[in-house]
Amino acid sequence: MAHPMVVTVICDGNRPDFITDATTPAMAALKRAGTWFANQRGIFPSATRASSASIATGSHPISHGLRGNCMGLPIPGGFEFHDAGKPEFFDTYRRHYGRMLARPALAERVADLQGAVMSANVSPGAAFFHDSYGHAHMYHRELCYGPGRVPTGEKIASPSGGEGDAIMTRRFIEALMEKRPSTATLWLSEPDVSMHAAPLGSDVHLKALAGADRMVADVAEAVDRLRDEGHDVLLMVGSDHGHESVTDAIPVERRLFEAGFKKELDGPEIVVAPQGCAAFIHFGGDAASRRVEAAEWLRQQDWVEDVFMGEDLARLGQIPGDDLIAIDMAKAEGANINRVPGLSAMAVRFDEEVGEIRRHCGMHGGRGRYETNPALFAVGRGFEAGREIFSETSITDIAPTALSHLGLEVSGLDGSALQGRSS
Ligand SMILES: [Zn+2]
Repeated sequence: MAHPMVVTVICDGNRPDFITDATTPAMAALKRAGTWFANQRGIFPSATRASSASIATGSHPISHGLRGNCMGLPIPGGFEFHDAGKPEFFDTYRRHYGRMLARPALAERVADLQGAVMSANVSPGAAFFHDSYGHAHMYHRELCYGPGRVPTGEKIASPSGGEGDAIMTRRFIEALMEKRPSTATLWLSEPDVSMHAAPLGSDVHLKALAGADRMVADVAEAVDRLRDEGHDVLLMVGSDHGHESVTDAIPVERRLFEAGFKKELDGPEIVVAPQGCAAFIHFGGDAASRRVEAAEWLRQQDWVEDVFMGEDLARLGQIPGDDLIAIDMAKAEGANINRVPGLSAMAVRFDEEVGEIRRHCGMHGGRGRYETNPALFAVGRGFEAGREIFSETSITDIAPTALSHLGLEVSGLDGSALQGRSS
């Protein structure tokens, strides 16, 4: 009996303006065969790990509970820095909060149907927070597991970048054809890896895009075979965030130390958790009383676009806290050396040299026009060919759209299904 299925491909970091007949012929053709979401929006921060949790749960960080790509967790006297991409952070997070994400992932919602497949060539954090309670068949270089997070023993050596993406795509298509899951998600590391490493619009970026395009074509071909066998397959192709080009890198924690807000450069009382073009600044210990003063100082810095505290954060879908300031790094009009529009400063903790290395290369994490505009199109039932939707949609709409296609209840998510959007 053929059942409905949802196949999603995330090309990490892909900007909609780079989906053209010249750069990505397969994606451009698929875009015309389906509905294009021109005003798709990411979350704050527009960073991969929290975005992966948002795509999986259809919810913003305020609802699912993973703040960003990295964060400070409280320790005596202040905070300790943690990278959410590291494999061990998964257990650190569980110990700290006594739970995994606060909202169920799509994989959990389809567990009683034909289950979920996830094949990811991004960081362990981005992969595992997509399925935090372990309901999927997961394929990842760090760990392959089945439902219940039971390791399968399979080892996949897939380096970050196009070569590893090709390995994960082949494994994804095998699992898709063999298991016929209700939902199947392939998360490619490109073009993001190359966009970070080289100027946007460079040959390196365009070559990575062409590679990702061929993998999307291979998945679309597998989807066609499933449709020929009678499955009602919805194909969504998109990304988690876009990119801006780096103007400069600011060592935010060092600057706060130099301005006198910290006693020691790497002391725990103020910890900066950079999110690329944004940052979270945690205030603990005896720095807690200097938070409002620090916010005023930050507002005066030319490398800061915006400062968010308290309820401002909740309005952005972010977890509020009276021990936190979030900053969006300064945006600029104009384009990089390859005439790609969208410029932003980026945040680091201490290093003064990063700006020289990163200038013109891609970055994301903040609230800039391009970094918060990931690509998305949908091909299948409920999505008219050639239609463009200009009203605002969100990466939190992807999970509800999948649920709607599968005939499951769409409730308990921040996003809503995209079927039936008309303008
Ligand atoms: Zn990403």
